[in-house]
Amino acid sequence: MKQHYDVLVIGAGPAGSIAAHKLIQEGKSVLVLEKMTFPRFVIGESLLPHIMDYLDQLDLLEVIGAQKYQVKDGVSFYHNDNKCQFLFNNQVNEDYWKYTWQVKRADFDNVLIQEAQKRGADVIYEATVTAVTNSFNLQTVEFEHPTMGKQTVTATFLLDASGYGRVLPRLKDLEVPSTALPRGAVFTHIRDINRTTDAGKNILIHVFRDNKAWFWSIPFSDGSCSVGIVSDVDFIKECAADDAKEFKRLLNELPELEGRFSNVELLFDPKHILSYSISVKQLYGEGYALCGNATEFLDPTFSSGVMFAVVSGYKAAEMTVKQLNGEVVDWENDYSNYMKKGINVFRTYVDGWYDGRLGTIFFAKERNEEIMKQICSVLAGYVWDENNPFVKKHDKVVTSLARVIEINEGK
Ligand SMILES: Cc1cc2nc3c(=O)[nH]c(=O)nc-3n(C[C@H](O)[C@H](O)[C@H](O)COP(=O)(O)OP(=O)(O)OC[C@H]3O[C@@H](n4cnc5c(N)ncnc54)[C@H](O)[C@@H]3O)c2cc1C
Repeated sequence: MKQHYDVLVIGAGPAGSIAAHKLIQEGKSVLVLEKMTFPRFVIGESLLPHIMDYLDQLDLLEVIGAQKYQVKDGVSFYHNDNKCQFLFNNQVNEDYWKYTWQVKRADFDNVLIQEAQKRGADVIYEATVTAVTNSFNLQTVEFEHPTMGKQTVTATFLLDASGYGRVLPRLKDLEVPSTALPRGAVFTHIRDINRTTDAGKNILIHVFRDNKAWFWSIPFSDGSCSVGIVSDVDFIKECAADDAKEFKRLLNELPELEGRFSNVELLFDPKHILSYSISVKQLYGEGYALCGNATEFLDPTFSSGVMFAVVSGYKAAEMTVKQLNGEVVDWENDYSNYMKKGINVFRTYVDGWYDGRLGTIFFAKERNEEIMKQICSVLAGYVWDENNPFVKKHDKVVTSLARVIEINEGK
């Protein structure tokens, strides 16, 4: 460890790693402080195709491709007997990525950070950041380490990519309650013995409990599969109680799953997480910026979390490089507003998912192919493309389309 770095990054998840890659690519010195030892488990395993644009820019496609992760080329939604499938080769723009991967995050995050290390980033694991002092061009960071003890290091700029650790939001009182209803999730990995070509290799989402709960399955290339349920906090507490007895029962017996997950071996005891939605007052300040889940996390429904982590890590690093190079940068417009624009598009889709508008659209008796392409590009993560009406006027278009379908179907 040097005494001073151009940039210090807190957290080695996708937001922190991608930021470190961009900074190294631009010739800056980087220290990443990570609280855990890697590989470490984290949920969030289904990626979105838009991530590939950033992996490509950072010359990471080959490294990640070599891991032989499960290719994901679409997403399917199920409700009772209705199915709605989006395939990423059917989007509004031919240049958009047509696939991405489903990954065990312990492995994916480890590959990303190890590659950053190979390319020149310094990384210290088991380093928990405990205090930070910021000014325009000097950031002083204290961390604790089991063998190094209490340490102080400085940097010209600081990026907080600490995810749910939310280091700067907590230390600087930046946290605000999320506008999303408190929900939770219970999940595990299973041996996917009943996987068939029919069952498919892509993520599946089954809605149940009158739209109040949904189940995910995310197959991996090693024959295992991530399974989980998302719902209101009380239902998730019920599912997780007594060694997740109710979750295990649903896995075995939920009619929507047609026995696919009956009697399968659980690869670890189910974990649960409650009230995962979070938000902050601001995405940047004097000498620092926040990226990934340290900013805002809405909901897992459309697998947007890692995409936002990657885009924000990359953009924040890009802005940081400009500032370090003496350029005047507009953090408000070019970073904060940019990120919020994309997040707000997904907010409409998350709200529309839970209030039923999206169900009306996805499971309509007749579906317009052009409209499905436009929605597919949103679900692929292209939420900044204002040529797509489902991005530009997201709320209005989703609401009106759902209403028209309801009228046509006599609801
Ligand atoms: C139930 C559920 C399902 C999800 N499913 C998906 C999905 O399918 N697809 C998807 O894209 N997203 C999904 N997500 C979201 C996804 O988990 C996150 O958006 C993503 O992990 C954010 O990445 P990150 O790099 O910001 O944070 P993280 O991956 O959480 O990394 C942050 C790192 O910071 C470290 N850290 C924390 N505090 C400190 C500290 N004080 N000092 C040093 N280091 C610290 C942590 O140890 C951690 O390694 C899901 C979320 C939930 C709750």
